[in-house]
Amino acid sequence: MSGALVLIVEDEPAQRAMLSYNIEAAGFRTVTASGGEAALLAVEEQVPDVILLDWMLPQVSGIEVCRQLKARAATRAIPVIMVSARSEEADRIRGLDTGADDYIVKPYSVDELIARLRANLRRARPSSVGEVLEHGDLRLDTAAHTAERAGQSLHLGPTEYRLLVAFLERPGRVWSRDALLDRVWGRDAEVDLRTVDVHVGRLRKALGGGRGPIRTVRGEGYALD
Ligand code: CA
Repeated sequence: MSGALVLIVEDEPAQRAMLSYNIEAAGFRTVTASGGEAALLAVEEQVPDVILLDWMLPQVSGIEVCRQLKARAATRAIPVIMVSARSEEADRIRGLDTGADDYIVKPYSVDELIARLRANLRRARPSSVGEVLEHGDLRLDTAAHTAERAGQSLHLGPTEYRLLVAFLERPGRVWSRDALLDRVWGRDAEVDLRTVDVHVGRLRKALGGGRGPIRTVRGEGYALD
């Protein structure tokens, strides 16, 4: 694991501590929230790679948190795993109806939980679970941290590498410069939008110059073709 960030939303302190401990022991990073409102704030601060969301929370319920996360463009793509003591089929369907990506019923084993986290991450962000990303003649090995084009290794700076990861995770997606900024530099970075253009320029150069596979989408941003 390359330290994907898991947001744990659980109101019981002992449960929260236990989850944090086990999830970190499996190689993830964690942040925790003790309730629905705290969870929504935490997501504003730092976008997690996956969210483990307790169903039974005081005040704002897990269902409501999930609904709000899935209604916002900035958080819609984050996989949400609902955790519940309820095992009724109707509840399960209701959970998935709100847009939850997965559902786990208490009591569950740590192994099962970690497997679910990995599976959801693999679907949403292949690079976060140490996989090879390929598109056209580009190949990037996130475990070995190497990239090549048509079999030739690429020499990329750390920012260009992260940019290429983002592009390879969603080929064809048009990334606004804002979205790239959030994804590559982080939400809190004090970086000018023009910096994004500079690094996309460097990445293009590293890929062999010319137009290359990264297309400028006028007035929108960039996309990998
Ligand atoms: Ca609870």
